[in-house]
Parts: sequence; C-alpha cells; structure tokens
Amino acid sequence: MDFSRQREEMVRNQLVARGIGDLRVLKAMRDVPRHLFIEESLRETAYYDMALPTADGQTISQPYMVAVMTELLELRGAEKVLEIGTGSGYQAAILAELSGQVFTMERLGTLAEKAAARLRSLGYERISVTTGDGTLGLPEEAPFDRIIVTAGTPEVPEPLIGQLAPDGILVAPVGERFSQILVKLIRTPQGLRSTYHTPCVFVPLVGAFGWKEE
Ligand code: SAH
Repeated sequence: MDFSRQREEMVRNQLVARGIGDLRVLKAMRDVPRHLFIEESLRETAYYDMALPTADGQTISQPYMVAVMTELLELRGAEKVLEIGTGSGYQAAILAELSGQVFTMERLGTLAEKAAARLRSLGYERISVTTGDGTLGLPEEAPFDRIIVTAGTPEVPEPLIGQLAPDGILVAPVGERFSQILVKLIRTPQGLRSTYHTPCVFVPLVGAFGWKEE
C-alpha cells in the first residue's frame, strides 16, 4: 500500500476539488498518517471519502469534514485549542500540526487511552488527552483561543462558550440527532457572531450540556 500517494490523491480529489484552500490545512492533511488512526483491518479504506468506525461504535470523521472544520478554525500557529470528542485522535493530530497546544476530551475511557497512546507513539507531545464530559469543557485550562466540538449537539454547550477567549473561534455541528449544520461562533468585542456552514452527520455529544444518555 502506498499510503502517501493515497493521501496525496485524497487531498487533491476530496479537499482541493471541493474548495478547501487553506494551504496549511492541506499540508497537515497531507502529512498526518490517517491510516495509523484506524483499526488494522480497515486500514486500506483509510483514505476513502467517508467516515470510518473506531472501537466502541464511534467514528473517525470523513477527511473532508476534518478539513472543513479545521479551515473554519483559522489556525495560525500559536493557538491554545480545545477539542471535544477525541475519538481516534486524528483530528487532534491535525490541530496539533497547526496550533500551539491541544487539549482534547473524550467521554469513553477506553478510546481516550488508545488515542493518547497512539498520539504519544507518533511523537505528538503538545496534545493532552483528558477523559470526561467535554460539554463541561476544561475550566482549569481555560480560556481557549479555539474550541472544536466533533460530536453532534442540540446546541453549543454553554460552558464552552464561557471558556472561549476574546476573538476566539468555536466550531460545532449543531442540530438534530441525525443531521446537523456546522456553526462557527466568533467572540467579538460586540458579542458573539455566528455563521452557518456545511450540513453534516456526527455521532451524538452525550453529556450534561449535550444529548442525555439513553
Ligand atoms: N474527532 C474524532 C472523531 C470524533 S467522533 C476523530 O478525529 O477521530 C465523536 C467522539 O465524541 C466519540 O468518540 C464520542 O465518544 C465522543 N463524545 C461524545 N460525547 C462526548 C462528551 N460529552 N465529551 C467528550 N467526548 C464525547
């Protein structure tokens, strides 16, 4: 398997072709070995144009969705970033390529441990993985310049808005259980400004300020 060639084709056919223009985002998507974030049995599908299952019935997002969300965050290199929904750790790795420091939270302990070990083995030292309810954020590390929620939520969890720094940007899939739209919030001196972007389908954000556990 020539994974680097597959990655190159993914960037060209799935990202550039659909309008991803931020060159730093494209470089990160070209550099991070997505196949190493995927169960060994599914590895040859790593660069397909789709979300893939992780352990525990969760998913690793489609490459295009990772790129869109990352582009919306407008990372320049020095930001302190909070991600909610570590999953495989792939999005966290992309964020780490483009920012100063990444804190990522995962509700499921087994997934968090696996992702932390994987990120460590790949040499990502500026990513810290915490197990817990990410709808509460990480008050002890707040404020954050950027916050990204990678699970679908009925509304943006209030504690996360409270932990967003001045001029900070938050991106989250907001909507119904099986269909959401990417919302981008910017904290401006005049207050919060929201814009609405790509329709999407994420697994549910389950927690105190998300969906209730079934
Ligand atoms: N960003 C991931 C994909 C996330 S899938 C990647 O790159 O692979 C969504 C993840 O959010 C799942 O792993 C799910 O367990 C987690 N999740 C759901 N509710 C959560 C919560 N309240 N806090 C933290 N993580 C949560």
